[in-house]
Amino acid sequence: MSFAGKTAIVTGSNSGIGLGVARELARAGANVVLNSFTDRDEDHKLAAGLAAEFGVTARYIAADMSDPDACRALIAQAGACDILVNNAGIQHVSPIEDFPVAKWDAIIAINMSSAFHCTAAALPVMRKAGWGRVVNIASAHGLTASPYKSAYVAAKHGVVGLTKVTALETAQEDITCNAICPGYVKTPLVEAQIPDTAAKYGMTEEEAVQKVILERQPSKQFATVEQIGGTAVFLCSPAADQITGTTISVDGGWTAL
Ligand code: NAD
Repeated sequence: MSFAGKTAIVTGSNSGIGLGVARELARAGANVVLNSFTDRDEDHKLAAGLAAEFGVTARYIAADMSDPDACRALIAQAGACDILVNNAGIQHVSPIEDFPVAKWDAIIAINMSSAFHCTAAALPVMRKAGWGRVVNIASAHGLTASPYKSAYVAAKHGVVGLTKVTALETAQEDITCNAICPGYVKTPLVEAQIPDTAAKYGMTEEEAVQKVILERQPSKQFATVEQIGGTAVFLCSPAADQITGTTISVDGGWTAL
């Protein structure tokens, strides 16, 4: 399968899952637009690296996904948008009564509202092209809850709802919208938590991974960014043309519990 000639925009893609998804889309031949809120040489070098490795066009466009105008400007600046992957996200953990209002607002804005603004800007572009695929990176927390993650769980459930509405509004066009719900994925962010978790519980790092971090993941293995990317590629492939408005869990069995 080749996405040659298609342009994929992946929000929040200078690290972790977003970068992994962009890599797999580029491997499949798509031109890619990377994004985050920073504008550093290393951000632009990531795009140049993908272009060199996969022979596609790759660009990095800085845009803050907490800002509605910046979300819409990202799509406009990209000039094309056949595949939109709404991935940007942050986390904060706190009991509801202590949850900082600014953190609540930022998580709702970046994790949920940015998907709305980017989708709103992308759909007219997709309609004009006669084809489009929207892939929202939700979470197992879009389907289940954990204590102390009120904003994150609310935002990710919101993304799953937005996914269904987007699918219904585009159902009779060659546009689909689905959400990927990862469990724990081995990203630099999660890897960095392993030593601290081990120290906190007086465990080895392996025990901390198995007993604490992957407690709710029955496979006892992390998902990988390549697996999330491969799922996104599948959702954009012809085999998935009739898959819309649904969620695909990549969570080692978490939501089967
Ligand atoms: P990460 O921190 O590596 O990636 C988050 C990305 O979002 C980064 O590129 C960051 O720069 C970007 N970002 C943050 N704030 C932004 C802003 N204001 N504007 C633009 N970009 C911004 O983390 P990750 O684990 O790769 O997370 C990516 C997505 O996957 C998130 O939506 C997260 O909720 C989701 N997710 C992650 C896991 C996991 O275990 N890692 C599990 C389920 C879902």
